[in-house]
Amino acid sequence: MKLSTAEKGQLGGRELRRIVYAADEIQARVAELAGDISRAYAAEDRLVVIGILKGSFVFLADLVRRIEVPLQVDFFVASSYGAGQSSSGDVQVLLDVKLPLEDRAVLLVEDIVDSGTTLQRLLPRLWAHAPKSLEVCALLHKRKIGLDPRWVGFDAPNEFLVGYGLDLAEDFRHLPYVASL
Ligand code: 5GP
Ligand code: MG
Repeated sequence: MKLSTAEKGQLGGRELRRIVYAADEIQARVAELAGDISRAYAAEDRLVVIGILKGSFVFLADLVRRIEVPLQVDFFVASSYGAGQSSSGDVQVLLDVKLPLEDRAVLLVEDIVDSGTTLQRLLPRLWAHAPKSLEVCALLHKRKIGLDPRWVGFDAPNEFLVGYGLDLAEDFRHLPYVASL
């Protein structure tokens, strides 16, 4: 894998296996998703986009800047992973949404849906606020089981991925591409 000096600098000497989605590929897909989302919410003037932190912050920032309807942004902090690579199955809410969601169109933005456990625990909490609608946009979808987000960037391979918001023990979130370790 050929990396520039700047790209090597970001990695601090650590090795990646391969780049799974290049930066320009991600940007092109984000533009398509934003187009689909803009059309779906064309008649909507009360859209709230909720990012699940920390993993969604890069994707959300790129996505909302391309959505062509008025919207507001809020965040939700849930923790399901420790420092390892496998889900504990436990979802802890560390920071709840502040904006009122009642009767509003809510779009939940997630970095990656794997087993769907995280979303299965979060969605009922959000439905409890009585939104008018509640949809999910995930950059990556690993397993085609259980929960199906309305919008998906890429069907991801079953490898541990980092970059574009995704971390391993808090490292690699700032990579502009998605790579496997
Ligand atoms: P689920 O609850 O759907 O099994 O897992 C979703 C969460 O697990 C994601 O929000 C993400 O934080 C984490 N996750 C799942 N697969 C990966 C992966 O390949 N890389 C990283 N960095 N996180 C992952
Ligand atoms: Mg996450």
